[in-house]
Amino acid sequence: MTNTGKASSNKVSKAAKAVSNNSGLLYVVATPIGNLEDITRRSVRVLSEADLIAAEDTRHSKKLLQHLGISVKTIAFHEHNERTRTPELLGLLREGQCIALISDAGTPLVSDPGFRLVCAAHAAGIRVVPVPGPCAAVAALSVAGLPTDRFVFEGFPPARTRARDAFFERLKHEPRTLIFYETPHRLRASLNAMTAAFGSGREAVVARELTKKFETILTGTLGELGAVFVGQRDARPRGEFVILVHGAAPSAARTPSSEAERILRALLRELSVKQSAALASEITGVNRRKLYQLALSLQRR
Ligand code: SAM
Repeated sequence: MTNTGKASSNKVSKAAKAVSNNSGLLYVVATPIGNLEDITRRSVRVLSEADLIAAEDTRHSKKLLQHLGISVKTIAFHEHNERTRTPELLGLLREGQCIALISDAGTPLVSDPGFRLVCAAHAAGIRVVPVPGPCAAVAALSVAGLPTDRFVFEGFPPARTRARDAFFERLKHEPRTLIFYETPHRLRASLNAMTAAFGSGREAVVARELTKKFETILTGTLGELGAVFVGQRDARPRGEFVILVHGAAPSAARTPSSEAERILRALLRELSVKQSAALASEITGVNRRKLYQLALSLQRR
């Protein structure tokens, strides 16, 4: 596949052409997240015309490539060899080869390898071309029924309990829709930790096995969803999961409530205004300055 400068679009900008004149192109190609029909015609063309396909797991991708009738050479490119493979691939790109980067499923770089290679390609003046397609986070968001105007992708929560609890705790006032990836064996632990941090009444969605035979979209409160999986204590949840959580209601989460005021009043009996506001803020999550103002006015009264 030679670089004609019109591989992705007939209207490549002058700057892009200048960058891509002598060197090859790095295509970042999204592949299906389950259903093999979810591949675009452009992805198939780019994969079949590439000089080399850098795949996260060559054996895994072989099935897809065979299904598509593509026999291009593949090379392993995963988190354990990304550092050493990047200069090698960069060398091939500089020689004018066109390389397609794919991961096991979905969009490369989204909780998948490729970041180092893409950065290195930019630094070397090699054009990087997206070939968009499936992404579990976006697919889940599109069917969740949660606000989509603003959202944050948080990837996989930490595996260790304390780090995970702190991670969710830091997100409890986040007003945008939250999206997480989770493994089956940590799904329950994460739902429990989210319930503790965000409250059992927070609306959420568990999207399981998207685009596959056992696709399931479970909606409910965190308390309800937690109960679904706790109810299956014996059988470990199976499949692939995306968890989405409604963002915190900014005013409700941060404006002093009667509960915050009650706690503040109790603390003021023993502590200074500053100490009471700080502690009440830590307990309730309400903005410290708002509580300080409230504490002052309570004292005056
Ligand atoms: N690059 C991929 C993407 O674009 O979505 C994500 C790769 S990440 C290593 C794998 C995680 O994505 C899984 O553990 C799961 O959380 C989520 N995932 C991937 N495929 C999925 C599917 N079909 N249904 C639900 N979640 C999926």
